[in-house]
Formats: sequence, C-alpha cells, structure tokens
Amino acid sequence: MERKLLSAQDSILLKTGPAFLGTGVNGFVDKSSIIIKGGKFEQIHPGQIPLGTNSDIREEIDLENYYVMPGLIDLHVHLCMSGEADFTRKILESPNYETMKAYANAKRSLDAGFTTLRDAGSSGYQTVALRDSINNGLVEGPRIFAAGKILTETGGHADTPFLRGRICDGADEVRKAVREQVKNGVDFIKMTCSGGGMSPQDSPKHSQFSLEEISTAVIEAHSKERKVAAHAQSNTGIKNSVISGIDTIEHALYLDREACGLIIERGCTIVPTMISPVMTAKNGRGNGVPDWAIEKTEIAIDAHRSSVNLAHDMGVKIGFGTDAGTPFNYHGSNANEFEMLVDSGGLTPSEALYSATGIAAEALGKKNILGTITKGAFADLIVVKGDPLSDIGCLKTPENIKFVVKGGKIIKNEL
Ligand SMILES: [Zn+2]
Repeated sequence: MERKLLSAQDSILLKTGPAFLGTGVNGFVDKSSIIIKGGKFEQIHPGQIPLGTNSDIREEIDLENYYVMPGLIDLHVHLCMSGEADFTRKILESPNYETMKAYANAKRSLDAGFTTLRDAGSSGYQTVALRDSINNGLVEGPRIFAAGKILTETGGHADTPFLRGRICDGADEVRKAVREQVKNGVDFIKMTCSGGGMSPQDSPKHSQFSLEEISTAVIEAHSKERKVAAHAQSNTGIKNSVISGIDTIEHALYLDREACGLIIERGCTIVPTMISPVMTAKNGRGNGVPDWAIEKTEIAIDAHRSSVNLAHDMGVKIGFGTDAGTPFNYHGSNANEFEMLVDSGGLTPSEALYSATGIAAEALGKKNILGTITKGAFADLIVVKGDPLSDIGCLKTPENIKFVVKGGKIIKNEL
C-alpha cells in the first residue's frame, strides 16, 4: 500500500473520468482535472488540462476509468461496538479495550471509503481519544466527530449496563451533563428522546425527556457551538426533539406528515439508519440477539420504511447513517445503507450519494469543507470501480474502493 503525505508546496493532479462532486443532487462532471495542494482541493477544471499547465504539480494520477467521489461520511456509527450478536456481553468490556476496538473499526470504515465518521455515543470518551490520536498523527484513521456519553433519563434508552449513558433528570442535571461532555472534548451532544430496540425496559414508541429537558440541552450545547443529535423513534419523541431545536433526528421510525412538516420548517436533518433494524431482524434470531430486542425491531421495520418514503416525498433532508456496530451491522459494511435508501427508502442513487456527502457535511456544520470536491474543501476523495448511479450496490464491496485520499494523503491505492 502506497502512502504519501504531500508537502504544502507540492501539488497532485488527478485526471478523472465521471465524478460526483457532492455539490448537489445533480453535481456531476464527465471528465475533470482536480489539483490537490496542501491537503485541500486547489482547483477543479472541467475537462482535462494538459500536463505542464501548473509547474507545482509533482505527480499526475490517471483515474479516467473509474468513478470519483468525495470521501463518504457516515453520520451514525458506534465504534466501540463491533456488530456482536449479544450486545449485553459488553458489560464485560473495559473502556480501554473499547478504545482499541474503536481504532480497528474506524480503520475498516476508512478502507471502505468512509473518510469521516460521526460516533453517536459510547460509555465514555473512547472515541474522543481516538479522534485526538488520529488528528495528532499517532495512528491513521478517518476524521471523527465524537459524542462521548449518551445523555439519557433514568430508565431511558441508554440507561442500561451495556450502553452506560450519562443519566440526567430535570433541566439542571441535563445542563450539567452537557457541560460535562463539552469539558471532556466532545464534538456534539447525543441524547435519547425515545425508547429503542436495545433497551429491555422501554419501547421505540415511548417518548423520553421532557420538552424542557431537551430544550435545555439544545440551548446549552448551541451556546458552546455543539450540535445536538436525538435518538428519536417515537412520533412524540421526534416532535418534542424538533420543537426543542434538535439538529438531527436519528432513526426517525414513526414519522407522519406533521412531523415531516416540522422537520422541514426547523431545518432538521433525519438520519434513518435503515440497515440497522433490518440486520438485527434478519440475522438475530437463534444467533444470540436477545429475543426482546428482535421482537421490538421486527415490529418497527415496515413503519420505518413508510416513514423514510414519506420524508423523501415531502422533501425532508435525509443524511446517511448506519448505526454500524449494532448486531450484524459491521464497520466497513457501511455502504449497505445506500441500497436500503434506494430500494426501501425511495431515494434515487444520486440522492443517496448526496446524503453521504453534501447533506452529511452540512449536518456536521462542515458544508463546503467536507463531503465535496470543491476548491478550498479538505481533499477527501475516493475512487470506485463501477458506476454507483447505475449500480449503487457497487459501493458495498470494499475491494471496489480502489483509492482513498484523506486530507491530500493517499491512504489506500489499489489502482
Ligand atoms: Zn445508535
């Protein structure tokens, strides 16, 4: 595997065939010449420029026979979980061990073309440490946005011995819990505003946290320039979250027209993670997933599909997320979600690509900085064997991801 760190002076020229630029659903070019310098996209020329046009160029790479895209973004992963069937066994794992798991899992996703991951919570600050280790050059990995501990009410979705969330009740405790996360270096706040599949004591149809508690979390987090993601499956939990100013609605199982209208009005993004319940229901029975988790999951799948179709029809922003780490939902297989969004969610292939690039970057507060091949954006880019627009499934196979660049550095080169 070739590895190359460009110096700030050196430039690299990529001569591409068809490229999806992440600038919009219709952001395609047939051929382009992309110049990367100092870790960022320096110039994007339509068509091809002759060699020697720019004397700074030290290397030219021919990508004409491949499909070029921005590095992919997964807005919802759990790096401290590895898709184990019986997640209740996590009770036995130390936070230190989980940090090493998170590193291995992050590498798998990077190899599969996901150059940015938003980690939607763990039992501590494992992925904060991993993010810093990557950013400081100790280890190689994707860009990580970490939530730290998941805020949960007493008995809520993350108040279990295996999810080990930050329990907080009432506005004062919620405010303190947000401050605690910020003190420990998180990039955003995750809170559970409904029940879910992996908590034995509740149902995806239960709402959790009051309007006052959610609003307090949002005000406190926004005052410190942190976004808030709500695990929200129940209809009331979704509406409470949106009304309170939550930035992203995770899972969004039980939507209706009113909820979608509110989501659009407030500028929220939903992150459906359609693959997660499907993998649990398909593989879980008799293979170690607790029966109570399978039953809750099976019930929700049809409603989930209808909800995503309704959201798509009404024009809700749909961001790409997988919940990777949940049972049988493995890191490195993140691209399975593309097929779900297209085949079950009603998205077109280009809408699905945009959900994992431009829309995901916007949800992170990094519009025009990540998820796009645009002058000035970080040079995160992947090269695919196959045409994702005619066969979205080609992204599923990590072997089809031939070339991965993160911040101008070639991470994978199998051309
Ligand atoms: Zn999750």
